Amino acid sequence: PDRILSGIQPTGVLHIGNYFGAVKNWVDLQNSNHDVLCAIVDLHSMTLPYDPQKLPQHILLMAASLISCGIDPEKSILFLQSEVPQHTQLCWILSTCTTLRRLAQLPQYSEKSEYLEKPLLGLLWYPVLQAADILVYKATRIPVGKDQVQHLQLANALVRTFNLKYGETFPHSKPIFNPNNAARIRSLIDPTKKMSKSFPDPNSRIDITDPPDLIASKLKLANLESTLSIVYDPQTRPGVSNLIEMHSALTGRQISEVCQEFKDFDIERYRETVTEVMVETLRPIQSEVDRLLNNKEYIISALKKGTQKATDIAADTWRSVTEKTGNHLIK
Ligand code: ATP
Ligand code: MG
Repeated sequence: PDRILSGIQPTGVLHIGNYFGAVKNWVDLQNSNHDVLCAIVDLHSMTLPYDPQKLPQHILLMAASLISCGIDPEKSILFLQSEVPQHTQLCWILSTCTTLRRLAQLPQYSEKSEYLEKPLLGLLWYPVLQAADILVYKATRIPVGKDQVQHLQLANALVRTFNLKYGETFPHSKPIFNPNNAARIRSLIDPTKKMSKSFPDPNSRIDITDPPDLIASKLKLANLESTLSIVYDPQTRPGVSNLIEMHSALTGRQISEVCQEFKDFDIERYRETVTEVMVETLRPIQSEVDRLLNNKEYIISALKKGTQKATDIAADTWRSVTEKTGNHLIK
């Protein structure tokens, strides 16, 4: 059977883009009895400036959020990337199977480094660590957003090169595109950009932990152009289209259905409708997050157990890798 690996950076609280675009799908995969590994990829979150003081709290909150959204630590392997050393060990070996030129061509590097005075080596290199994240578990299906397709191609190129150099070791992996919404949830402030955890303005996103009045005030501020009617047209009306897409994701209904039902609403009334649905959908998740955060020992112990299970698999792979690469003399 396929093994599925997904990862999320502890760069902030889960927002509804992460939830509908990624986590909900991981939960569905888990509940249809797939072998799911869910990594909190703290090493990746160090590739942009971050606050080490806040990282432990972010990891805790991310674990609590994932569990509250339905990731069951008994069914999935929920773990912390940095505590499984084979990720970075394999990353190094894979670095000897690709070129600097290949990495510099990946669009993510130019996009993310554009605003940085001194982009870090890690920012250039992290797609190789992502490949290691996958290969260390020999995962064969990877839930990806459109921005990650090139990284999966890199991982598969590394599989080819490694297998050629050292003999058949790693399987290729295939993407799983999100079946729920092909489009991405966009920023509330600038709906031409995607909603992001790390974007500085918190009004640009709805975090799954936002209380009702904050959800209402953020949606009040949301840029809906000067639209009066409920018309879905992402090109010319990205703001109102984003609202419709969120509504569709929240209710599990088709965009066309939503537009049909609310076509007579004026935009302010529609905004209130979506706010209500959002508040009600997030309510049970939020009470679960609160409950879990009152029981930090449970979260930490769940993460530790998951990390141990992940390490057992990763250690097996690492052993077979060192036998192929000739590093196994004193094993
Ligand atoms: P950061 O700003 O730190 O990169 P992020 O919000 O982009 O944070 P990631 O941790 O990079 O979140 O990605 C986690 C998962 O969420 C990935 O599978 C990604 O494809 C998905 N995702 C991120 N943003 C959105 C969005 N706006 N809409 C749908 N899916 C999203
Ligand atoms: Mg991201």
